[in-house]
Amino acid sequence: MSLIGRVYKSTGSWYVVKTTDGKFWKARIKGIFKIEGITSTNPIAVGDEVIIEPYPQEESIAIITHINERHNYIARTSPHQNKQQHIVASNLHQAMLICTLRNPKTSQGFMDRFLATTEAYHIPTIIIFNKLDIYKAKDLTLLETLNELYQSIGYTVLNVSAALPNLPKGEKNTMLQQIQEILKHKTTLLSGHSGVGKSTIINHLFPNLHLRTQAVSDWSGKGLHTTTFASMFDLPTGGAIIDTPGIREFGLFNITKQELSHYFVEMRTLLQQCQFNNCIHINEPNCAIKKAVEEGRIYASRYNSYCNMLESITEDLR
Ligand code: GDP
Ligand code: ZN
Repeated sequence: MSLIGRVYKSTGSWYVVKTTDGKFWKARIKGIFKIEGITSTNPIAVGDEVIIEPYPQEESIAIITHINERHNYIARTSPHQNKQQHIVASNLHQAMLICTLRNPKTSQGFMDRFLATTEAYHIPTIIIFNKLDIYKAKDLTLLETLNELYQSIGYTVLNVSAALPNLPKGEKNTMLQQIQEILKHKTTLLSGHSGVGKSTIINHLFPNLHLRTQAVSDWSGKGLHTTTFASMFDLPTGGAIIDTPGIREFGLFNITKQELSHYFVEMRTLLQQCQFNNCIHINEPNCAIKKAVEEGRIYASRYNSYCNMLESITEDLR
């Protein structure tokens, strides 16, 4: 008997799979999977659609026999072997990047690296600034600049306070309603530094989800390192979120210096106007990107993030 399911949690050695009838299984892989064109340290990731075969005489235990083709995925450089990638999650509709300008401050460099990564993997990304209630005047000025910047290049930006100490009990925090709408019926990768308020936001919107504390299934998995593996949670509104605690950054894997500007959305449309088609927009003459920065059509802070990322690319990978 074969069943179709989706991977809700991956620990590297076993997986939690939910089948279409709503049942959770503890599953292992059969043999070694080769997925075309991808060398990764983990053959199966959260979000994958898989075929399982229940284990005879074992309750809720199964073997994964096949993985369906991924629509997309997001990876990071493997923590152990930096020449290999580690697939974090797959089959995503979108990513939500939660940021704060205070306690802890999210740097623009971090945001731009994240956005370039999701662009590279074709995952639309929504930006949320949280903790508005504690911003000082200078934070609010920066907030306005960043709102203008990211909206002007096409990103959706929302500004919220997840924790409202004076909110009467039982009352909904209306600032978060838009987030709920965006999450509805979609599979969303939830990202952002630890402490920015991811669990506060999700637990306020979906009090029964118990993000970070919920056991994914009826399983009482022993010795589970729940904090370091991605897990997927179904939303009562339809859709699901994927939480990736402990993953601080996604690295751009195997990209060349020539490619990088393709992942800065506002640069992409100008690239054909550079004199050299392999222009990396640093010292080349007649560079459309540098001209746009000088004329204020591209934000200097974004160009700065671009230059920093460019410098970090080592091309010995090819
Ligand atoms: P996570 O690591 O991203 O899941 O962050 P948490 O949700 O655990 O939040 C970290 C801390 O920030 C907690 O102490 C929250 O109460 C606090 N926090 C979350 N949202 C807000 C907010 O909008 N305003 C303020 N002032 N504090 C918040
Ligand atoms: Zn150029």
